Amino acid sequence: MRARPRRLDERGLIRSRLSEEHGTLGCDVRAPVVMAYPSPYRVGMSSLGFQTLYRILNAEGPGAHRAFLPDEWEPATLAWPPPKQQVLSYESVTPIRDYPIVAMSVAYELEVSGIIRLLEGAGIPLLAKDRTERDPIVVMGGPVTTTNPSLLLPFCDVLISGEAEGSLPLAVHTILDTPGRARAIEAAGALPHSCVGEIEEGRFEALPDMGRADQERLPAFSAITTPEAELSNMFLVEPERGCSRRCTFCVMRGASTGGMRILPLEAPLSVVPDHAKKVGLVGAAVTDLPHLEELVARIVESGRGVGISSLRADRLTPGFLDNLARGGYRTITVASDGISERMRDVLDRKISERDLLRAAELVGSRGFHRLKLYQMMGAPTEREEDADELVRFALELSKLTRLTMTFSTFVAKRNTPLDGQPFVGIKTAEARLKRIKAGLKGKVEIRPQPPKWAWVEYVLSQRGPEVGYRAIEAVHNGGNFGAWKRAFATLPEQHGRALVFGDEARRASRTGFAADPTSASPLVTLRGATPREEP
Ligand code: SF4
Repeated sequence: MRARPRRLDERGLIRSRLSEEHGTLGCDVRAPVVMAYPSPYRVGMSSLGFQTLYRILNAEGPGAHRAFLPDEWEPATLAWPPPKQQVLSYESVTPIRDYPIVAMSVAYELEVSGIIRLLEGAGIPLLAKDRTERDPIVVMGGPVTTTNPSLLLPFCDVLISGEAEGSLPLAVHTILDTPGRARAIEAAGALPHSCVGEIEEGRFEALPDMGRADQERLPAFSAITTPEAELSNMFLVEPERGCSRRCTFCVMRGASTGGMRILPLEAPLSVVPDHAKKVGLVGAAVTDLPHLEELVARIVESGRGVGISSLRADRLTPGFLDNLARGGYRTITVASDGISERMRDVLDRKISERDLLRAAELVGSRGFHRLKLYQMMGAPTEREEDADELVRFALELSKLTRLTMTFSTFVAKRNTPLDGQPFVGIKTAEARLKRIKAGLKGKVEIRPQPPKWAWVEYVLSQRGPEVGYRAIEAVHNGGNFGAWKRAFATLPEQHGRALVFGDEARRASRTGFAADPTSASPLVTLRGATPREEP
């Protein structure tokens, strides 16, 4: 990504960014919808879902503009409120509070900070129950609805769950066709895969089941390429959707999302625009595509660079790697997730030491700069012996290629068999990381994500709408870790569920957001473990 040389005011910045985009839609055309992304421009423009919905709303009507969390409001720790600044749409440089509909796509739980900052900063009442006829109708959806949509309920007027290629245009048309704010919200909330947010204090509807896009809506592909995206100047396209595998920690697992939908080879190729110099193949399980080698070869033969969102170690072949090298790859990144063979079995990851050794051999022998390995520590039953096995194995791998390992900490997610599992503990996770770092010092580069933020994500993932109110408290108190810890301290106790495997786990995953029969509340997602961590 190119560095921006100087500070521009918001209007200047928007002009500068628009001038570098290819494929911008809806400029200087009135639109009733602004798609407001709760992270900055470079992140939002790398979201295939955000780009796809923007493209669909512009292609099929009624038109949509974009807005983003101002860059200055991104840091996790930020005194609030910051100096006043307007939140403007890019296509018409209009304050977003002046649009009839604000649509927000939320990727994951920690983006709740961005929701709070964006809405408040834009002058839109933060809570759905406080909005009036003068305010926009706020529609929310996005990947976070596959894990914990209840977190969004205090903030949205209408919630759309799951894939929204069909649901969002329908909701937008329904809102525009229904006179009166309250009636429009009720009508949109009654649509399939949708519900009304907390528009009245304490009123929650049962969460809807997840939408699934019709096959003719696929592939998803981006409208705009820009040098300022995290995936700089990359045209994004999804050659398959979903995953047929069953990793026990993953919200994309086939049992939850209906499996993998494979598109014909020509489908993604036919939508690549002439100006695209790089093509990013995005999807949960792209390397499971039967025709992936041919797809990559065709892109590379057309003179374009290529990127793939996820590579599986057991699917790498010499020919495939050679094409990736021709397409600009210097680092090969694969996920191991479990830090030992035993933990990979617990997670049902179906990647073995043998697969990882073979991947390292291939990467080393074909001239790539390095192998990057994703690890997820702290999953249920993990012990110090697993960390010791990782150290031994990583040293073995590092003899075959230069090795970098990134570490995240396991966060139990709804709609997975490991839902409700406790958090490993910040101190435990930090001590384990320290042990691994000491064992690999000077041999393997380690890039850990701080376990304390995984704990915040864990609490946000495992609780109901009440945690949205605690998030407001944390953001208003500066958003540092201490602020989150204090905000969560007043959450009422919840009791964890037992670890389930095998058939019971599969049953649990199928039930998804089904009502909790022990709960008197019509709101159904208040299950899960107590945030019992003692940070
Ligand atoms: S971790 Fe990857 S392979 Fe496993 S279910 Fe999720 S998307 Fe599929």
